[in-house]
Amino acid sequence: MKTNQLTQLLAACVVATVMVLLTSCAADQADSAAEPVVESTPTESPYVIAPNGEITLRTDCDGVDIHWEYEGADGPDYWDDLCTDWACGGYQQSPVNIVPPPVRRLSKSLRFYWKNTETHIVNNGHTVQYNIDQPSNQNDRSYISLNGQRFYLLQFHFHAASEHTVNGEHYPAEIHFVHQNPLNGQLAVIGVFVEEGAANPFFADIHDLWPHDEGHYDDASSTFNPNMLMPSGYNNFYKAHFWYYDGSLTTPPCSEIVNWMVWSTTIEASHEQIMEMESVLHENYRPVQPLDGRLVKAQ
Ligand SMILES: [Zn+2]
Repeated sequence: MKTNQLTQLLAACVVATVMVLLTSCAADQADSAAEPVVESTPTESPYVIAPNGEITLRTDCDGVDIHWEYEGADGPDYWDDLCTDWACGGYQQSPVNIVPPPVRRLSKSLRFYWKNTETHIVNNGHTVQYNIDQPSNQNDRSYISLNGQRFYLLQFHFHAASEHTVNGEHYPAEIHFVHQNPLNGQLAVIGVFVEEGAANPFFADIHDLWPHDEGHYDDASSTFNPNMLMPSGYNNFYKAHFWYYDGSLTTPPCSEIVNWMVWSTTIEASHEQIMEMESVLHENYRPVQPLDGRLVKAQ
């Protein structure tokens, strides 16, 4: 073999070795790095943001308003029959029963950038919802960064009892913080369970503040940071423990566009505060849905 052939062979060997190393390195990185959020094709947002700041879900069927409830003939068992455009009979529905997996994967990169914010409270007949003002400058809005993508906080609302269950058990209440990625319409919802314990300053005045009747709109809410409803350590990569899975809105139209992150640590509210929540919310929870092969992962 001539020297230049030998050199070429050696060079080829070196290139091949480097390629193998790079490939395995890339595979390692892909394994340990953040997982992609729900695979997305751009979807039309199910949320409508009115000029007055009210944020509502589109639940019409071909332009006709459809009435739905949590019980009876318009209840969860029949949501799928109420409108064929809704996804309520799909295979990636929420809520689900969570059986905590034994291993934490630490694969989601999640940071909160919530700010002091003006909110407006509405009783929409299904929940009490705090709509978040959306300043025109996107940097002034509250958002989370999930695997490098921004999801803006649109609203948060309450369910009593909880919608997700853990090992088959409900908590007294659950808060949903709904975020939207304006680029592709995908949602990221943070779920936080409320359990009975110490009185919570946030719920101190809900008896006067929460509209008891459907359609009542409170325009005079104060400015605060919704992080007062998050468990401690929520924005610390090593302390923030949550379960995540791909799912849907838990109300019509049940769109399967949600990256669910349900916190495994809880917040507390007193017995009286939970009773007040229940008296306004009237058991507004959808029963758990089949996982149909989906995995709930832990972080
Ligand atoms: Zn909800």
